[in-house]
Amino acid sequence: MDLKQIVEALADKHKDALRFDLNFENAYQLLIAAMLAAQASDESVNQVTPSFFSRFPNPREVVAASIEDLEKAIYPVNFYKTKAKRVREACQVLVDRFNGEVPDDVEALSQLPGVGKKTANMVLLGAYGKPAVVVDRHVLRVLDRLGFHFKDADQAEQELKSMLPESHWGLLSYALMRHGKRLCLARKPNCLECPVKGICPSREEA
Ligand code: SF4
Repeated sequence: MDLKQIVEALADKHKDALRFDLNFENAYQLLIAAMLAAQASDESVNQVTPSFFSRFPNPREVVAASIEDLEKAIYPVNFYKTKAKRVREACQVLVDRFNGEVPDDVEALSQLPGVGKKTANMVLLGAYGKPAVVVDRHVLRVLDRLGFHFKDADQAEQELKSMLPESHWGLLSYALMRHGKRLCLARKPNCLECPVKGICPSREEA
């Protein structure tokens, strides 16, 4: 089984949930939600974003708000003070340089304050449907257990892109993320249910 076949098997296993857990309706909303989700749970972000987006439906409204109002709107998400500042700075750049729109280009996205490669790739994939590899801790853990070892997320992203056709970049991101959340859990993987247990060097017996 090569990586492409592994991705297909995992995608089939989790075909009911090949998506992000963050709730969003457009690129702006996914960008903000992904920024808030750094070192915070998706659930905590989903709790605050409905009211945040109804009060601040676009970057211009964020820029017009005070930092205190933004902090209140995202509390109790972890690191809400720093994140309020970063969200405002990123929205300021969107207004100043991109006419208030979220660019569909990874380089431009990565230049926004508080936006790393993972967030940029999430926006590309989730909001624009463009081929992108999103590497989070779940994806790295699953790959590592399957025998694909990478130094860090950046190296993983680069190498995975050369190992897989573009058609499978998004599939890998969604399928491995879901697998890491549902079965290949950090503490104890549920290998019995795993569709690739036959070739996994880290398989644990029940
Ligand atoms: S066999 Fe177990 S350790 Fe290997 S990928 Fe599947 S769940 Fe993870």
